[in-house]
Amino acid sequence: MLEKTGIPTEEQLKEVTPSKERLSRGPVAIIECFQEIPCNPCYTSCSTGAIKELVDINEKPEVDFDKCNGCGICISNCPGLAIFVVDESYSEDKALIKLPYEFLPLPEKGDMVKALDRSGQVVGQAEVVKVVNSKAQDRTPVIWIAVDKELSMRVRNIEMGV
Ligand code: SF4
Ligand code: SF4
Repeated sequence: MLEKTGIPTEEQLKEVTPSKERLSRGPVAIIECFQEIPCNPCYTSCSTGAIKELVDINEKPEVDFDKCNGCGICISNCPGLAIFVVDESYSEDKALIKLPYEFLPLPEKGDMVKALDRSGQVVGQAEVVKVVNSKAQDRTPVIWIAVDKELSMRVRNIEMGV
């Protein structure tokens, strides 16, 4: 399915999803990179050692959820736009998602936008909480959005407008 549609299966997602308990504790990286490819900027950019060493550069990355602090540095370093940070401790009813976004125009803090799932379907609304776009990110801005908590593992992109 992934090869044909670009959309991972439920089983693949289960392999990279932290426990409910870990998600509720605070921000954590979720790496949705499911193919063995010669790539490792996720590993080299993580200063906490949360991404396990890729002994063979073709290995799929694996996160130690207890070492990850959800900083999001790895997000803009990933050429595959495959890394997201989810924080279910954000508020009573909202989760925070940090996602890579390479479209223009960029949204602005406070904007309401469409929340899209992995297939590009609109599944709700999101509030843009922050736009991080430093020179070091090399033109891969990271957008922080707040969504209904039950959408935290479904929303993986946004579209301008509501
Ligand atoms: S979010 Fe930060 S701590 Fe977690 S894996 Fe990415 S770079 Fe490492
Ligand atoms: S940097 Fe991105 S595409 Fe490359 S191995 Fe890591 S998660 Fe996969």
